[in-house]
Amino acid sequence: MAAHKLCMIPGPIEFHEDVLQAMATPATSHVAPNFIPALGESIELLRQILFTSGQPFIIAGSGTLGWDMTACNLIEAGEDVLVCNSGYFGDRFGECMETYGAKVTHLRVPIGESPQLAAVAAALKSKKYKAITITHVDTSTGVLSDIKGIADIVRKESPETLVVVDGVCSVGSEEIRMDAWGIDVVVTASQKALGAPPGLCVMGVSTRAIEVFKTRKTPVANYYANWNRWLPIMNAYEARKPSYFATPAVQNVYALHVSLKQIVAQGVEKRFALHKEASLKAKKFIHDLGLKLVPTSLEHAANGMSAVYYPEGVAATDLLPKLAAHGIVAAGGLHVEIAPKYFRIGHMGISVTEPERGHLDATLNALKISLAECGYKGAL
Ligand code: PMP
Repeated sequence: MAAHKLCMIPGPIEFHEDVLQAMATPATSHVAPNFIPALGESIELLRQILFTSGQPFIIAGSGTLGWDMTACNLIEAGEDVLVCNSGYFGDRFGECMETYGAKVTHLRVPIGESPQLAAVAAALKSKKYKAITITHVDTSTGVLSDIKGIADIVRKESPETLVVVDGVCSVGSEEIRMDAWGIDVVVTASQKALGAPPGLCVMGVSTRAIEVFKTRKTPVANYYANWNRWLPIMNAYEARKPSYFATPAVQNVYALHVSLKQIVAQGVEKRFALHKEASLKAKKFIHDLGLKLVPTSLEHAANGMSAVYYPEGVAATDLLPKLAAHGIVAAGGLHVEIAPKYFRIGHMGISVTEPERGHLDATLNALKISLAECGYKGAL
């Protein structure tokens, strides 16, 4: 792989040499016998990774397309949607829902907090919602939401409400068990903990949600994202048959296929454990440096990333270029209310599942040195 600065942001992330190699697959027809199994098997592997018997989708696009797919296929104009909002991505998902006529209620939490189960229960008691959305990891705050706990509450208070998880920053790094936990939709993308380059929208949809889709009363107000067009395509590839609606991103699918095989070969449980271990190490290091995390408790801090406030006297314009000079690309703040006050580091995928690569150690060491170069004299 060409020498490059380590991409330690919360997605896109560093990917494996074999994944990169797959991106260099020569021109291949999207209905060629050597491509069909790559997509077909990727669909099957996703069932194992999401622990679902439902319907995976792999479509050219990004995570945002998963929001459109969820909203345009499952929600009809005028229906109520409850958005558990733990940051920037809750606002945006809500906006997408409104685009298709949903009436959105945001259940907001203070910055750094995660949605409270009692508040979710109260909201579900007060109104009938067609769907509830939860950002599993809000990439703007590094807050991890308790999707299992929320899904339990939904089952108790309003069992017909569809449970939708934005797992763009969590699938592959945080535990998700769609069937066992009663989750109807998981939206993700190729470029985060699934370990492939950007370019693919990846979803898991429960059998129950597909039934809800099939019995909707009004037509789907979207052309490309309409599941009526994509369901036969996903089914055909899984049956290893050629089929066409819109051209799949062939090389991206090859790359994702390699990464999904690696994930399943290593073991999904092992992967969760390694992300937890790496996150604890990063968070302890950050704490020992005297820095404060954006999440208000380790209990609801993501395992695949850390959002960290700059210490007194250090600004984004100081730290990020210094980190880059030491070979580490980190991300600035994203949450509008605190953007200039914090930075973000990703620790997902091969950077933690293959610790021998030394990515995390290099990042933490660069952080320590860069802070000192910024004049920080905290607990170093
Ligand atoms: N949801 C979350 C939680 C995200 O982190 C992102 C991307 N950072 C998105 C949705 C949107 O995904 P994409 O940029 O792939 O469209």
